[in-house]
Amino acid sequence: MDYAVARRRMVENQIVRRNITDQAVLEALLKTPRHLFVDEGLRPHAYADASLPIGEKQTISQPFMVAAMTAALGLKGGERILEIGTGSGYQTAVLAHLVSRVYTIERISSLASRARRVFDQLRLTNINLKVGDGTIGWRDHAPFDGIIVTAGGPEVPTEFLEQLAIGAPLIVPVGPLDQQKLLRLVRTDADNYTREELMDCRFVPLIGENGWMGDG
Ligand code: SAM
Repeated sequence: MDYAVARRRMVENQIVRRNITDQAVLEALLKTPRHLFVDEGLRPHAYADASLPIGEKQTISQPFMVAAMTAALGLKGGERILEIGTGSGYQTAVLAHLVSRVYTIERISSLASRARRVFDQLRLTNINLKVGDGTIGWRDHAPFDGIIVTAGGPEVPTEFLEQLAIGAPLIVPVGPLDQQKLLRLVRTDADNYTREELMDCRFVPLIGENGWMGDG
């Protein structure tokens, strides 16, 4: 299988056709070998229009969702971005091509270790990855120029709002376990935020102090 051809088709058919036209985002998707972020047996399906299992009851997000969430950050380059839910590391790697540094948190250590190996293999050196509960954010490195959450919680954790720089967006799925709304909130000043609904979505649960309880 020619993965570069599959990747180009993915970008044309799944992303551009759905009106995501931010050139930098499209180039980052073309540069990121999605097949390396899934198990070998799933590689032939890596560029399909779907999320895929990555073990531990978790998923690598659908390419369109990764593209849409990345575009929603409105990146110019040079940003410091916080990602909650590293998972396979695919979204992290796409972001790493677009910003100066990505801080990413994953609660399941086996997934974090696997993602770290792929980052090393791809020589992505602008990623800080830690294992822990991302629902409290990453205070040591705040404020961030954007926060992206790739698991769905019952509400927007206030920690995320507090850790945004003024003018920075938070992209977060919020709602019941079986269906969420993807929200874009922007911190307009110290105490105020705009809030916009981007689309319906369905993510794995955000589990932690400010998310759902349980082991997923
Ligand atoms: N962007 C990722 C990708 O494409 O592979 C998506 C991964 S998956 C949809 C969401 C991830 O969020 C899972 O790996 C899950 O373990 C993680 N997660 C859930 N709750 C979390 C929390 N409180 N802190 C950090 N990670 C969490």
